[in-house]
Amino acid sequence: MPSLFNMPIDRLRGIGASRARLYNKLGVSSVGELLRLYPRTYEDWSDPCKIADAPENTVCCIKAAIEKVLKPARIHGNLTVFKFIASDGYDNITVTFFNQKYTYQRLSGGGKFLFYGTVKRYSGGYEMSSPTVSDINSAGIHPVYPATAGLTAKQIEISVRQAIKLLPENINDPIPKEILKQYGLCSLDFAIRKIHFPGSPEDIENARQRLAFEEMLILQLGMARLRSVGTREKSSYIIGKDYSDEFKRLLPFKLTAAQDRAITQCIADMKKSLYPMNRLIQGDVGSGKTAVAASVCYTAIKNGMQCAFMAPTEILATQHYKSLSELLKGSGIRLALLTGSVTVAKKRVIYDDLENGEVDLVIGTHALISDNVAFRSLGLVITDEQHRFGVKQRAALISKGTNPHIMVMSATPIPRTLALMIFGDLDLSMLDELPPGRQKIDTCLIDSGKRNRAYNFLKKHIDNGNRCYIVCPLVEEGESELESAEEYIKKLGKTVLGGYGIGLLHGKMKAAAKDEVLSAFAQGKIDILVSTTVVEVGVNVPEATVMMIENADRFGLSQLHQLRGRVGRGKDKSFCILVSDNQGNNTRERLSVLCRTNDGFEIADEDLRLRGPGDFFGSRQHGLPELKVASMSSVDIIDKTQTAAKKILGADPDLRLKEHRGLYFEINRLFARVGNTEQLQ
Ligand code: ADP
Ligand code: MG
Repeated sequence: MPSLFNMPIDRLRGIGASRARLYNKLGVSSVGELLRLYPRTYEDWSDPCKIADAPENTVCCIKAAIEKVLKPARIHGNLTVFKFIASDGYDNITVTFFNQKYTYQRLSGGGKFLFYGTVKRYSGGYEMSSPTVSDINSAGIHPVYPATAGLTAKQIEISVRQAIKLLPENINDPIPKEILKQYGLCSLDFAIRKIHFPGSPEDIENARQRLAFEEMLILQLGMARLRSVGTREKSSYIIGKDYSDEFKRLLPFKLTAAQDRAITQCIADMKKSLYPMNRLIQGDVGSGKTAVAASVCYTAIKNGMQCAFMAPTEILATQHYKSLSELLKGSGIRLALLTGSVTVAKKRVIYDDLENGEVDLVIGTHALISDNVAFRSLGLVITDEQHRFGVKQRAALISKGTNPHIMVMSATPIPRTLALMIFGDLDLSMLDELPPGRQKIDTCLIDSGKRNRAYNFLKKHIDNGNRCYIVCPLVEEGESELESAEEYIKKLGKTVLGGYGIGLLHGKMKAAAKDEVLSAFAQGKIDILVSTTVVEVGVNVPEATVMMIENADRFGLSQLHQLRGRVGRGKDKSFCILVSDNQGNNTRERLSVLCRTNDGFEIADEDLRLRGPGDFFGSRQHGLPELKVASMSSVDIIDKTQTAAKKILGADPDLRLKEHRGLYFEINRLFARVGNTEQLQ
């Protein structure tokens, strides 16, 4: 297989430069990658049904002979309709095509064909519109590929058929034989051939299982190797004294036991003489991660280090700067905020201060990794919302110190099994306790029929001096995020909420415009903030007491929990209203988890159980290769591959053995695509 990854896609017949560019859009530039472009779904043509037995509103396959060719009708402009009457020997059906001249010519000659589509019943009989047509000898299960503009699923299928022919007699299987046997997996050869052209539904299942296992195994091995590279160097900043008690005296509140434990763990890490700290702090929304970071910084700084704190957005960086300044007030610690929008003159001052050691703690965005930034003694690097940074960005900041301690803060509780995988060999501290006095956010699930009652509920809260969020439906196809949000606001204007101050926040807005809306909301100039999911992180408005989420079923549970965490930040009781018309059992079960509990870890576990690992590897997990099959598979694959990966690395940490050569190749190939290879030597 490796050699096929070196064979450019345009070596296949029918693929020239322009079509090759379309393939590139699908992430395919070589024949090998084409073989790894798996069908999105399948059409089962193996068992045609009678026209009269066709299921309602569901695609199916019928076998019928052309009885009559109707005269093509030009409807308007360049739209031509071609109609045929076909029969399966029992009933007639009208088959319609639009502008498909080639199909028209093919069917006009008469004969029997397979038609794949939805049979519609109407008073005069049966009808099928724009079905896929095939020769009767090509029954079986057909792959459907993820097409892109200018490249149809059918064209991809034709190329894949050619590519399959190029496969050598025996493809090298990256998974060692022993593991295949132990987990009852089919060979790569079988999997690749059958995932594209299965003979039965079982073939698809077997191929999927095997490919999912491979993907997950490679991900686990790759991550484990990435992490081990970063932590081999000895620590340069070993701390002598623990100042966390002194820090406590600065605080207006008592730390929770979980916070205390996390701080103790971090300080113990930094006291060790061998390797620097490399720890993930996971905590639910509001569990007080910032105070933990502040305490650890305090001790680090009192021991002569500088600290850098990187956040993914300007809003978050600014908010952290404010909270940390507040928490460290009276400590004598000198803080600075460095983001893209800081003026050049101010930046220069900060650069100088960092280099001379006159700033102890710098908080910022990726502006921190600019070449201009140098430290005198960077000993502790903290990143918030870690998975939003690429491995490169993280490494760039870390390289500004000499083997600094590393602390990662994740605001999205991730199930332990996944955390161990995503974050490799980071040590884990869990803040599984909220500060006392927090009120539970009451959550309910309604359908859109009750929307007006919900609006009245919001109105009551606003009249009492509070504020509300509405997270707007996600975009419909062909509509931009902005359009759908503006549409929503227009409708909102005609309800009981019409007279109130309504603001809009969406993803395409410039940072400055976002800040403006957010501060208007924070100051109460806006009563209702209608937003797409950008409100998710970093917004802290204590007066906000209601969070209403439209089309709640389209979000993952963890994401909903995160959104809900925007309310319940002040003294007043807060509420979350989930709106969904999806009556599916699974959906109801999923959403009811949120109504039942406020515990982010429990929610994450349920989410993983109900939806599989896919969501946790969605677009937010930058720095990880994309999962094509495994994201659809069940959770136990994580455990299995974790065990397998451990065993492989235990026997051969650098993957140098002959039987691991294939794995080594695949890890490099997949991690190269996300720009991580320089770390995988
Ligand atoms: P998160 O873990 O979501 O980042 P924060 O660190 O922003 O949480 O803390 C949320 C709020 O709780 C802040 O206003 C913070 O000052 C407060 N807080 C943190 N720890 C405690 C505590 N032990 N007791 C009371 N309030 C606390
Ligand atoms: Mg926070």
